[in-house]
Amino acid sequence: MVTGELVSGSGYARSMSSESTIFEQIVAREIPADIVFENDHIIAITDIAPQAPLHLLVIPKTSAYRNVGELAAADPALLAEMVATAVQLAADRASGEFRLVFNTGASAGQTVFHVHAHVLGGTLLKGTLAQH
Ligand code: AMP
Repeated sequence: MVTGELVSGSGYARSMSSESTIFEQIVAREIPADIVFENDHIIAITDIAPQAPLHLLVIPKTSAYRNVGELAAADPALLAEMVATAVQLAADRASGEFRLVFNTGASAGQTVFHVHAHVLGGTLLKGTLAQH
């Protein structure tokens, strides 16, 4: 369960409560995931429906931010830590070159409203990201 927060200047008011997202459940170990990295602030997992040879999700443990805009406004250091984690994972698990995608809003393909970065390495699989 998420309690309501209003992030100043974000343009997104949160409802007073909402169901926990799938990522909150993964962080809480309520459902399993292939965890490839974890520290106090961040967890990274393998995407269950990969769209590239390397497809990881870098997820802040906090559920306070629905999207990257909210996160950047409220906690830029945490956003920078997410990017650094993506850099390290792409170096460890692929060539070091990667796409970093933050879908923002349903019409842009966002389905989980707990900010996360897609780390995509290698050639994108046909007809996936382009579908959105
Ligand atoms: P988005 O559509 O940008 O919100 O990204 C959500 C991503 O979460 C999608 O790429 C899904 O494939 C992925 N996903 C959903 N459920 C799980 C899960 N249980 N484990 C790993 N990845 C998941």
